[in-house]
Amino acid sequence: MSSDLRSSIRSIPDYPKPGIVFRDITTLLGDARAFRRAIDELVQPWAGTKVDKVAGIEARGFILGGAVAHQLSAGFVPIRKKGKLPHATVSIAYSLEYGIDEMEMHEDAVAPGERVILVDDLIATGGTATAAVALLKRIGAEVEAACFVIDLPDLGGARKIRDLGVPVRTLMEFA
Ligand code: AMP
Repeated sequence: MSSDLRSSIRSIPDYPKPGIVFRDITTLLGDARAFRRAIDELVQPWAGTKVDKVAGIEARGFILGGAVAHQLSAGFVPIRKKGKLPHATVSIAYSLEYGIDEMEMHEDAVAPGERVILVDDLIATGGTATAAVALLKRIGAEVEAACFVIDLPDLGGARKIRDLGVPVRTLMEFA
């Protein structure tokens, strides 16, 4: 990982609540060199391999996932918060710090056996990504990998996803 990529992330203490350091990727996205580099580095292990679909988690996973899909000549699949998708969906409930939330995808977004890469900006506890992997598997996807710009390793999420048998690619860590 290059030091300029790491320095393109803006850290905001006590957002959205006291004690949380929010890792803001909008500064990376706004920096043309950093954005290109992040996408190049995320896809590097899969360059030249066949990937059918890239699934991005709402909302920052859409921006990164769209660029990754383009780079890999793959289709893009949005995984959204409940109630946003117009066609028939599959959905899964997952735990947040307080309460539960639900995410959905179109039931026909991935055909059984298609090779899919999951993308989001950051993995913390892994709750969001675990639910997304389960949703993809439920409609028959082969989840080839999960990619994140940022890993918060102290929260153990990347390990959780690897324990599911899904390789994880991250570009930087914040302790
Ligand atoms: P988790 O489910 O705990 O792995 O949380 C990951 C999701 O929450 C991702 O969609 C992130 O965008 C968001 N998130 C969690 N913690 C942070 C943080 N410290 N800074 C920015 N985004 C975060």
